[in-house]
Amino acid sequence: MAFDELRPNDSDHTGWSDSSARAVLQLMVESVAELIGFEIATLSVALDGDLVTVAYAGPEEHREFLMNAVDPVEVIAPVLERAESWGRFRFLDADVHHIELEGHWVQLAPERDEHPDAWHPENVLLGLLSDDDGRLVGLLSVDLPVSGRRPDAAQRSLLEKYAAQAERAVLTAFEREELVRQVAHAESARQVVRAAAMPAQASLESVLQQTHEPLLEGFQASGLWAEVFGVDGGSWGYARNREGEVMEVADEVVALAREIAPQLWAAQQVLVMGNDAELETPPSLTEGLVGEAVGLAATMDLDRVLAVPLGAGSECLGLLVLTRNFAHPVWSSVDQASALEIGHDLGAALLTARALERERTLVRELKEIDDYRSQLFATLSHELRTPLTVISGNLEIVGGLGLDDRAKVFLDAMGRGADRMQKVVDDLMLLARVSHPRHPLAAVPIDLREVADDVVTLLDLTAIAKGLTIEVDLEDHPLLVPGDPTELDQLVANLVSNAVKYTPSGGTVTLSARRRGDDVEVRVADDGLGIAEEDQARIFRAFYRTENPDALNEPGTGLGLAIVATVVERHGGRLDVASRLGEGTTFTVALPSYVAAGG
Ligand code: ADP
Repeated sequence: MAFDELRPNDSDHTGWSDSSARAVLQLMVESVAELIGFEIATLSVALDGDLVTVAYAGPEEHREFLMNAVDPVEVIAPVLERAESWGRFRFLDADVHHIELEGHWVQLAPERDEHPDAWHPENVLLGLLSDDDGRLVGLLSVDLPVSGRRPDAAQRSLLEKYAAQAERAVLTAFEREELVRQVAHAESARQVVRAAAMPAQASLESVLQQTHEPLLEGFQASGLWAEVFGVDGGSWGYARNREGEVMEVADEVVALAREIAPQLWAAQQVLVMGNDAELETPPSLTEGLVGEAVGLAATMDLDRVLAVPLGAGSECLGLLVLTRNFAHPVWSSVDQASALEIGHDLGAALLTARALERERTLVRELKEIDDYRSQLFATLSHELRTPLTVISGNLEIVGGLGLDDRAKVFLDAMGRGADRMQKVVDDLMLLARVSHPRHPLAAVPIDLREVADDVVTLLDLTAIAKGLTIEVDLEDHPLLVPGDPTELDQLVANLVSNAVKYTPSGGTVTLSARRRGDDVEVRVADDGLGIAEEDQARIFRAFYRTENPDALNEPGTGLGLAIVATVVERHGGRLDVASRLGEGTTFTVALPSYVAAGG
């Protein structure tokens, strides 16, 4: 039979990934049939208690029946009970034992042959293929000798040779399959571990939760414990069995893990306990430590333990412990090697998660500080407002009392001081209001052209008095944005008043507004003092004023731009400054356009 006539997949009950193993076995049965002289030769492998026929040589009419045969291993029990032993083969003489055989056998029409060695069609001749421990791994059966006679001594010895080869081939195929399976499992576990490390979902707990199942699955483990060491000397554990139940891990076990893990990580080794072979102490660990580990494993009723260090770079981040029952296989070298790889993958995932967690904590703390600051501003400005009103009112009354000129000078100074305080309090209140966490934006459609016009009307006189020109360049159609009218007014007013304030006489301030893509862009440009490069990032902080003496000559609170930045942020916009000291400054604000409902 030609090689390519095989249909390895049609009748594939083995689930073997490697069809070359089947091809080898097929060649073997063909050789047995042709070279030793049997019309039928089949090879079955024992899989999970079943005999599955994987190779067949013989008449086409029986192929279908035999190649699809899956029978429980017990079908051969009656044969084994009575058969004669010929080395690996068992021969059942149908003339002596009249037994009813079920399954797995082809019933052939008896032919009459009276020779004492004549082959009876119901005779059974099968070779038992077993592993080193004597467990049945397969069957090589032959039927219908071409000679019509029972095999002679020469044929039997050939049969024995072929059976031995077939046994090797089957065992190799099983080993290969086991290897492929282990690698595939470990590989899929690795992929899950890597996926779990994707930043979007990475928290320490989520990484461990998501990788738990696939790791148990991939390593055929009965339980999993991951202990992650914190930077502060503390640690955090996650231990579950296959049913998802939490397993208790005693403090002394955690303490041992903390001791063992860094040493294993440094040496890139794993610790294996409960393998059938003698316990091997990894060179990185002392016998004392290993002895302690074995003792603890015994008190916890753990059969087979694989302890794997978790880490990244030179840093050991934790220990992963996988457990198996004695019913499960020993930790193979593939298991150990893949576990070490997982230690790297999981380590990298944990490192990312830890960094992210730290970042999140930081952001949370900053947010808290920020909230606290706006609350402080709110309280402060409210507390100052009332006494300030009292002071201003009383100053006014005192002014009307007909004071002498000297007293008036003092009174004026007090009045100016009160005005400045009033400005600070007003700005503080506004900043507190726009940055208050529980003060949502009540947005309505606002035409920024109108805002710009209003601001210019308000500031034009000041500009003229200072010898400045304000140029206005607005597109001649509404420039609508969703926003709070007071806040947007304040935004533009602060920018234009700064430009006027920080531009010497003779200069020009330009206010322009236009559509740009999905935004409305407002620009306030001046050719005034300019802002030093190093100050440009800081001017948006509350109370920050540059050290430029010319700028400091102008009155100010340092709150104007902080308000601008907060309002822009609340409106989902962007704020940009471009400036050169001594040449001028341009502030650009981009706010998302208003999109009317329905288009
Ligand atoms: P204030 O103007 O009350 O000091 P701001 O928050 O409005 O506070 O501005 C912060 C600082 O940024 C100002 O002190 C000033 O030094 C600088 N600044 C702001 N706008 C301009 C500008 N158009 N030209 C030059 N410097 C400016």
